Parts: sequence; C-alpha cells; structure tokens
Amino acid sequence: MPYDSETKMTGPYFEARYSDGRTAAARDIRVALSKHGLLLRQDYPAGDEVWPYTSLTTAEPLSSHAIDALISNAAQPGASLFVPNGSFARQLAQLAPHLTTRAARRRAAVPWLITAAVIVAIAAAISAAQFSPARAIASMMPDKVRKALGNQAVRSLTKSKPSCMQAEGLAAVSAMTRRLSSGLDGGRTFNVTVVDLGLVNAFATPGNRIVLTRGLIEKAGSADEVAGVLAHEIGHAVALDPETGIVRAIGMSAAVELMFGGSGTVSNIGVLLAQLSYTRQAEAQADETALRLLEKAGISAKGFGQFFRRVNKEGDAGSDSAGGIAGMLRTHPPTAERIRRVDAANTYRATPALSPEQWQAMKAMCPKAAKEDG
Ligand SMILES: [Zn+2]
Repeated sequence: MPYDSETKMTGPYFEARYSDGRTAAARDIRVALSKHGLLLRQDYPAGDEVWPYTSLTTAEPLSSHAIDALISNAAQPGASLFVPNGSFARQLAQLAPHLTTRAARRRAAVPWLITAAVIVAIAAAISAAQFSPARAIASMMPDKVRKALGNQAVRSLTKSKPSCMQAEGLAAVSAMTRRLSSGLDGGRTFNVTVVDLGLVNAFATPGNRIVLTRGLIEKAGSADEVAGVLAHEIGHAVALDPETGIVRAIGMSAAVELMFGGSGTVSNIGVLLAQLSYTRQAEAQADETALRLLEKAGISAKGFGQFFRRVNKEGDAGSDSAGGIAGMLRTHPPTAERIRRVDAANTYRATPALSPEQWQAMKAMCPKAAKEDG
C-alpha cells in the first residue's frame, strides 16, 4: 500500500456518497483512510474533513464479507457516508476494529440515531430474520414512496437516452413479463422499460419496475436468455434488494425522512441503482426466485445459464469486448457457483419464452437497434 508522507495517507481514494443528514439528497465525494481517521475530500465551501476512527459507528457491523460500508460519526449526528467498496470495508475494519461483527455482538447495539433506532427496534421485533436495519427500514417503505422512487429512477435514465417504444417490441416485453410474474403471489405485475443504451445491464427499481438495456437484448442469444435475466431481476424486486440498497446508499436518517413526510428526492437515483451490487446471498436468492418463476412459466432455465457463460466468456476475452459488459460483470458476477446451481435446475416441459416474431420485435424495438452505438 503506497504511503504519501505529505497527506499522511495510506492507499487510494474511494468513491463515496455523503449525506449531511439535514437534506435527503446525498452527494458524491472521495474518501481515504488516513493515519488517524477517514479523510473526506469535499469541494469548496465544505473543505476537507477528518472523521477520527474512534468516533465512527456503523448501523450494521462490518463483516469480512462486507461489500460496502455505511458509516456515521458520533461527533456529527445525522451525517452518514456510504462507500460501495468491499476492499474499503475490509481496510476500515482493520483500522477501526470496534466496527467489526465480533465487537458489535459483544456490545449489542450502539445507539446511533433516535429516529432510526426506534424504527429499527420495531422492525427487529417483527422480523426474526438476520439483523439488518437497512432491510428492515426498506420493508417499511410505503408503496407511495416505492412508486415515486421507481418513477424517478426510470425518468432520470431516460432523460438522456430514450426508452424503446416500438409497439410490437413493447408487446413482446410485456408478454414475457406477464408470463414470468404469473408465478408470483398476489397478482403482482412489473413494468419493464427498455433503455436505448449499448452497455449490457439490467436492474430492478422500487415500485415494481425493471430496466433492461438494448445492449443486453442484443447480447442475448435467445429470448430465453432475456427471460432468465428478467426473472432474476424480479427476484431482486421481490426481496426488496433495490429498496435496501437505496436505504444503505442515502443513509438511514435520510431514508426515514424520505419515508415519513419528507419531500426529498434521491439525487442520481438511476445511476445509483444501475451501479448497486448486492451481496452473494442476495444474488443466490434472486437466482432461486428466477428458477422458480421460469419453471412455473414453463420457460427453460438453460437460457439463463447460457447468458452467464456468454458474459463470462466476453469478460475473459479482454478489455475491448468487455467494455460493454463491465457493469454486468461487476454488479452481477456470474460465479462458477451460480452457474452450477442454474445448471442443476429441474428439467421440465418448456416452450420458448417468445415466438420467433416476438423475439425479432424485441430486438428491433430501439431506435438505434440497427445502427452502431453512438
Ligand atoms: Zn443480481
């Protein structure tokens, strides 16, 4: 690890989102692990700031599998810092060992923020599941807020890039979506938006919305492959992974404010959701839901596995071709473990996810589909 004697800094800067706790909006800043504390590099007028390691608290203990860290500072109530980087979380755990799982278990809970603590206490009481305040708060998010967040996310993405509106293509997308969601309880349906972007990506937003990119449809070799990805994203939505990710990213005080009367919006929410990665456990669970939905819909799971292989193969092929799928590799790593599980799925009677005509319509639904990406 490089050491810069001038800044007393070890290692590089990490991208982070900072929330001051007074407004619901978070902003992007850079942080570094300096000798005595976290260095928050902020532009004028705030200036740089150091959060001493000893005054740091985390709502969830840092485990060795952490993929991100949501940190607050006892000296600055309400403010929070979200760093979506596992390597950062592990380095921080070494510098501030009181934030680790083991220390937190010994000490039980650290009082952090009264509003959040009350809600967490209620949520913990009703949820015997693994103690996760972010997930507990996400589960209490009113439908109105979910809907608003989903709309905001899709709107922010389609502002610069149009969504693909060709009628037969839209019909094919909704036919596939209906077929998959028919396996869900309670008649839950999803609204899927295809964005005219060349990079390969797919993600769920709160409020029963899912975004697919043109690049993903172009990359897929069949409608069954798209169906596998779509079923996986439905799995994330059902598990409230997008909501949980947002709560972690904006900080719990901001999330509470957003949910209870706050009129705030989440800045860059589309970009945030597109870049969020989930835990291995959340990925595995979304895969399980996907396999269940595919089987109920009578769509073969082979396409799902095929898509994993395709993404992996391109990732291995080198930086040039990996450019478009880099996001997919980072946010949904198709590990050997995942491929094994999908390959081991039940076999059952299956029909193609779409007719050949529908599949052609889906591939041609974007304005740029026939041209090179600009
Ligand atoms: Zn996923």
